[in-house]
Amino acid sequence: MHVVVIGAGLGGLAAAVAADRVGHTVTVLERTPELRGGGAGVGIMPNGVLALDALGLGGPVRELASLDEGCGMWDRHGSPLLTADLAAVQEQAGAPVVVVRRSWLHGLLSDALAPTTVLTDVPVTALYDAGDHVELRTGGGPVHADAVIVADGAHSGLRGTLLPDHPGLEGTGEYAARGIAPVPPPGVELAVGELVDHRTGDRFGCLPLADGGVHWFATWHGPSPTDPVERHGWLRERRTGWHPAAVALIDATPADAVHVLEVQQLVTPLPTLAVNRVVLLGDAGHAMTPDLGQGACQAFEDAATVASVLDGATAADVPAAFREYDARRRPRADAVLRKSRRMHRLLGLTGWRGRLRDALLRRVPARLAMRSMAAKHRYPEQQQGQRRRMASSAG
Ligand SMILES: Cc1cc2nc3c(=O)[nH]c(=O)nc-3n(C[C@H](O)[C@H](O)[C@H](O)COP(=O)(O)OP(=O)(O)OC[C@H]3O[C@@H](n4cnc5c(N)ncnc54)[C@H](O)[C@@H]3O)c2cc1C
Repeated sequence: MHVVVIGAGLGGLAAAVAADRVGHTVTVLERTPELRGGGAGVGIMPNGVLALDALGLGGPVRELASLDEGCGMWDRHGSPLLTADLAAVQEQAGAPVVVVRRSWLHGLLSDALAPTTVLTDVPVTALYDAGDHVELRTGGGPVHADAVIVADGAHSGLRGTLLPDHPGLEGTGEYAARGIAPVPPPGVELAVGELVDHRTGDRFGCLPLADGGVHWFATWHGPSPTDPVERHGWLRERRTGWHPAAVALIDATPADAVHVLEVQQLVTPLPTLAVNRVVLLGDAGHAMTPDLGQGACQAFEDAATVASVLDGATAADVPAAFREYDARRRPRADAVLRKSRRMHRLLGLTGWRGRLRDALLRRVPARLAMRSMAAKHRYPEQQQGQRRRMASSAG
């Protein structure tokens, strides 16, 4: 059976590995002339690591686990609001939290595929469902597929073709800058996790990488300079007076290595992730705010589910297999998307609401914070197993 994946981002490549591992012929069509790993770092939460385990790629990721200490939320000066014992979170969730360079993760996934699997410079412009197969229009000739996985990202053009009544992506008005400082700033202790500012809703986060670098991000609302050098200075100025790691990490990162975008999300849930022989995967299906570090992790869960529903499937089985994918993935991804949005709102509170949030966070017992964090990052198959065990012990 021929499975075509549209888009070679983290989600598309993971889906390609999934379909390949269960024995199908896979082609990935990527519109850009070169494979791009994307900049800065990405946090892989325990559920993402467990999903990568299902694709046979969890091992190399686990080797880069570097976070074993306290991680939390801090006020902008670095005074703790909520801290969680990460070692306990990881033990409860069954896998580590791993922060890696995006380019490394992208390379891990693309290296798991035969070199001829990914075709670059091939934008898919249209899809035609012919009932027993799908015809794809590309910049070159047409491509015939038995199953199609649309992984063309948050700005997906094909989502609108498949689900024309859906309103699509919505901006949050918040901007995020991300970078990697090559080494930790000397003489400055990091506040690992996230600093929040109840005056403006701005945030700054940092997470050490196994290779010695430090991934950081900064968020703000409203306009900022567009020139990278000017913006770098502006960002630095905006974090002056915060915990000293913020300015030190910005200073340590060249202006042209800082990636900026507006945070966007699918506010209206999609009515389905499956349309006959076509499924939506990754940000194309559930673009969410990055507040729980779950976007790519959900794409990995999608991919693990693709492997499960396409295992042993023939071309005739694809519509039913993809209905099962929708039934298993949509409720879970929608729930994570909603939780991310709630976290986004909570962390962006300003004025008396922001001060109240800080006061309440300070009162949350560390054990409760740990349990809640572990629950958020648990892999669904684990939860099902746990529910089954609970049901059988209750019976
Ligand atoms: C600031 C920020 C921080 C984040 N941090 C985390 C984190 O810590 N942990 C985490 O799990 N997630 C995180 N995420 C989310 C994560 O980055 C995304 O969920 C993930 O990268 C989505 O991958 P994707 O493959 O679905 O989409 P993309 O990476 O957008 O890939 C889509 C691909 O499709 C290609 N394409 C588009 N249209 C076509 C077409 N018509 N034909 C062919 N190819 C096409 C594009 O060129 C691109 O290569 C973060 C996101 C942001 C914005």
